[in-house]
Amino acid sequence: MAMKLHEYQAKDVFADAGVPTPSSQLASDVDGVLTAAEEIGYPVAVKAQVQVGGRGKAGGIKLAEDEDEAREAAESILGMDLKGYSVERVLVEEAVDFTNELYVGITMDRGEGKPVAMVSTKGGVNIEEVAEEDPDAIAREHIDPAFGMHPFQARKAVYDAGVDKSVANDVASVLTTLYDLWESRDGSDAEINPLMVTADDDVIAADAVMNIDEDALFRQPELAEMEEEAASGGDELEQKADEYDFDYVRLEGNVGIIGNGAGLVMTTLDLVDYYGGEPANFLDVGGGAKAERIANALDMVFSDDNVDSVVFNIFGGITRGDEVARGINEALEQFDEIPKPVVVRLAGTNWEEGMEILNEDLVTVEQTLEDAVERTVAYAEEVTEQ
Ligand code: GDP
Ligand code: MN
Repeated sequence: MAMKLHEYQAKDVFADAGVPTPSSQLASDVDGVLTAAEEIGYPVAVKAQVQVGGRGKAGGIKLAEDEDEAREAAESILGMDLKGYSVERVLVEEAVDFTNELYVGITMDRGEGKPVAMVSTKGGVNIEEVAEEDPDAIAREHIDPAFGMHPFQARKAVYDAGVDKSVANDVASVLTTLYDLWESRDGSDAEINPLMVTADDDVIAADAVMNIDEDALFRQPELAEMEEEAASGGDELEQKADEYDFDYVRLEGNVGIIGNGAGLVMTTLDLVDYYGGEPANFLDVGGGAKAERIANALDMVFSDDNVDSVVFNIFGGITRGDEVARGINEALEQFDEIPKPVVVRLAGTNWEEGMEILNEDLVTVEQTLEDAVERTVAYAEEVTEQ
């Protein structure tokens, strides 16, 4: 999985590598914002530091021309709830006067098995729509990781995107730097959106995204340190998942999913989608799922207000089915009333014993994964229809 840097952290990394970024300071209270703005000079942008996209549209970014506006911006953004994240810190930044917003990014194209560099002149807050509705507006250049990005490839992507000649060299150079960072820092995504073009034909990174392959953090000690910082101030559920040591990703839907093994959980996600449901999360409890881990996993999905029903998909290997069944019973017996319907499918080692042990007053037991998922989706739909 990926470790996401905050905007201010990603900007530090980019700036160190030579990408132009606006001067900025982090603040966590109104006074801090005003002091920072005073030092930087008005106008400033006040920007929520939470790891979600679309902060601008969600009210997490405000421009301030003077002290009154800065105070107003700080008061409205600090402490606000932004897509489930509470905003504890803002970045106060020199506002950039721009004539155009570009997009540049590097990610892994899994279909091609190669990293891909992307450039667009339609950067800014609507890039997701552009990607969907007008994919040709994003120029793409695949890179052979053995050779890195050749200078001509950077120039070609910039040219294909139709970037104005006056800034083409600068954009190509930012793109090259971004690729070098992506490669040397074990990035999964590196993105600048918008890369602003100013009236003087300068480019400047007004936003920064850098996601790091978590499995590579051992060789990125500097970034691993940032993770400690990044983790504080994240989504409450994701923090909880860290404490419990689960692989967890919160999604948009209402069907809670618990499984052991990443592949098994992915398959369950796909099936939920197949049966017309929407997954609320990816949650892998890992091997050796003892009662306590099961209880923790249930605590995770039950604490997610979006969840309307839960499916357990457990394949017994080292983890024995009877043990998991006991864990599920124990965890659910603690409730006077089960908060959301739970469906269980057990397979593998001792699955039959497990099925017998499961208390059917507490859970719905299904023999096959298909039936289990279909049932869970139906439960979720019942709730939605009410
Ligand atoms: P995101 O919405 O989370 O991607 O946040 P961004 O940092 O990309 O900001 C969203 C939008 O806010 C940008 O596309 C700009 O239109 C605007 N914005 C951000 N910073 C500045 C700034 O310094 N000056 C001006 N004029 N607009 C800004
Ligand atoms: Mn952005």
